Order: sequence, then structure tokens, then C-alpha cells
Amino acid sequence: MTQETDRNYSNPWYGKEGELDRLVKPEFRKEMKGAANGLLQKLAKGVKSQNSDSDYSIYTGSVGIYYMYWYLNKKTNRPIPQDRVQMLLATCKGSLRGKRFSFVCGDAGPLVMAIVTDSSLVDKKIKTICLKKLIDLKKLVLVRDPEIPNEVMYGRVGYLWSLLFLNSYAESDDLKVESTFISQVIASIIDSGLGRHKDRLYYEWHEKEYIGAAHGYIGILYVLLKAKAYWAPGQEALIRRTLEWLISKQRFPSGNFKSSVGSMDDRLIHWCHGSPGAILLLLEAATVFGSQEFVNVALECGEVTWARGLLKKGYGICHGVSGNAYGLMALYAHTQDELWLRRSNSFAEYCFHYGTKNVHEPDRPMSLFEGLAGVIYMLIDFAEAQPGAWPKFPAFHL
Ligand SMILES: [Zn+2]
Repeated sequence: MTQETDRNYSNPWYGKEGELDRLVKPEFRKEMKGAANGLLQKLAKGVKSQNSDSDYSIYTGSVGIYYMYWYLNKKTNRPIPQDRVQMLLATCKGSLRGKRFSFVCGDAGPLVMAIVTDSSLVDKKIKTICLKKLIDLKKLVLVRDPEIPNEVMYGRVGYLWSLLFLNSYAESDDLKVESTFISQVIASIIDSGLGRHKDRLYYEWHEKEYIGAAHGYIGILYVLLKAKAYWAPGQEALIRRTLEWLISKQRFPSGNFKSSVGSMDDRLIHWCHGSPGAILLLLEAATVFGSQEFVNVALECGEVTWARGLLKKGYGICHGVSGNAYGLMALYAHTQDELWLRRSNSFAEYCFHYGTKNVHEPDRPMSLFEGLAGVIYMLIDFAEAQPGAWPKFPAFHL
């Protein structure tokens, strides 16, 4: 048992992982699928009762729910509902606002989803138009303006992520973007981080130096590491020094990461702020730089996530239990230590009871990042886990 706080419930399985044998048996995968199917029916009803698709974002809107159906189709061959495809096409054709360019909160999300959808559902001509619109967003991304953020949710790495995702899922080379273009986007991200400190990059969002995956360094560095194949000389050293500064200076004694530079309050254990998102960065850093030190820090982040991760805030992937389950699952995928499978599946099982223990109802209860769609995505992802196809946090973990 761990301590209950105003943020989290006590974890009844803390220190009792040895009793969780049933969670590593094949029957538990069936239970996860059963729970996901029940929640899918709830989602389908909920989506029908929503009378507006005016929020088309991956984060809280209609295309986030589409992304879940697209992923389920990939994993299980479940067909994508026709009306969801129509909604996506209508969004790409007429609703894009042309103001935000990231994947999670901007126009890149719908455009990329249309391009990576199977050709039997989206015509090649439409995909080509979407690719052109995606590349045209560069006029918002590449302009030198200190007001343009660099973080995942609204910023330049959110656009860079879209390009990396597109190039790994597009069905043919003419639907991919050129590597020189990707390098240009990376250069604009690095350039805008220079000048404030001589030994590391500097990024802020709304006048604060955020740390977490959603708005801060964790997310920015993670996407930059994933873009390693496109780095220019000199970029690697800057990225690594920034990472080392983050690990040595921006953690609490508990092992948790701060939410922003100067924060004194060790409260948040979310994907968006805190250790669960940091695990994904640290494991990627271990792979890129070949250093066990990064794995050790990730394991400490895993411990604090396991102890304090049953959040009162709810079940969602952004700041809820399913997102924390993804951090623990990443540790299993990396270390192959079954302890982490027990822990991640324990959090997954907690999510079977979606909606019964959260203190607040999310604003967008069907959505991918705050609501039901993200939980279903996680349950199916965990149920289908296998070597070479480990679960990955949606719209972030590549
Ligand atoms: Zn969040």
C-alpha cells in the first residue's frame, strides 16, 4: 500500500506484485479485450450523442477518436466506421483553420491521418492534396518568430512529429516528405533554442520553462531524438547536454521530474507533467546514446509512477491512469523484466472500471487524450502486445 494524497489513491498492489500472476497469463489479454469491447459500445453511443464535430483535434476532438479506430483497424482488423471516415474527409476538405500546425492540436493531425488511411477508404488524389496542405503549413512553422512555441502540443516538434509519423506509415514514397525538409524543421527548432544559455537549449511556453512531455523539454527532446537520422553536425552535442541538464537539475528527491523549472511542488505524475512521460524520453536516450545511466533514471521514474500513479483525476492518457500504464509498459518492453508487465497490467485492469473512481468528469469524455477513446486504445494495445510490436503511447511514442 502507498499513501493516498489529494492527487492519487493508494496503490493496493504496491510491494505485492508477486501476487499478480494472473495479469501475465493469456486469459488476462482476453479480459482486456472484453473490457475494451464493452467500452467501445459506450464510446459509439457517446459519439453519436455529440452534436458537433467543431473540435477536430487529436487531443480532445473528432480526429482523435478517428485515430483510435484507425489504430484498432491496424491491430485487430476491426473496420473503421464509415461515418468516421466521412467526418475525417470533411474536416480535411473544409474545416481546417490554418492557424495551428501540430499533430495533437493542429491541422497536421487530420491531414496526416487522411494520408495514412488505407487507399480503399481515402482516394490517392485526396491524399496528395492533404500532403500539399501539410507541407504548406511550413509557412507557419519555419518563420523566425520567438512567439512560436516548440513543444509537442502546439509547437514545432508537434509538426516534426507529424512528418516522422507520416514517413513511417505512408504507403508509397510519393506520399512522404523529403528528408531535407525534415532537417529544415529540426534546424528551426534548434535555432530557436539557442542564445539564452551557451551550454544547452532553451525553450519556454507561455513564459514558463516547462519540463513535461506535453509542453516542455521532455517532449521536445524525445521528438528530436526520434529524428536522429536527420540531425546536422553539432546538433547531437546540444541535444545531449540539454538532456543531461534536465536529468541532473530538474528532478525532485522522489525521482519525479518537475513540471517547470523552479517548481517546488512534487505533485504531478502524469504523461503531460512528470515521470510517466519522462520514461519514454529516457529509454529512447538509452537506445540512441547506448548508456545504461538513462535506463537507471527511467527505472526511478517507473517506481514513482507505480507508487503514485493511480490518479484521482481520472483514467485518460494525458493525465490519467492509462497514460501512466504506458510508462510502466515501456519499461517492460525495454527491460523484459516481468515485474513491469505486472505493474502496467495492474494499471490497465484498474481502467476496466472506467468512470467509477475519478473525481472530475473530463470536459471531453469520449476523447483520445482525456477520455474513453484513449483508454480503449491502451487496452487493445496492451492486449495485442508482442515482441517487435510493443504498446506505444498514442500520438507521441514512435
Ligand atoms: Zn495532461
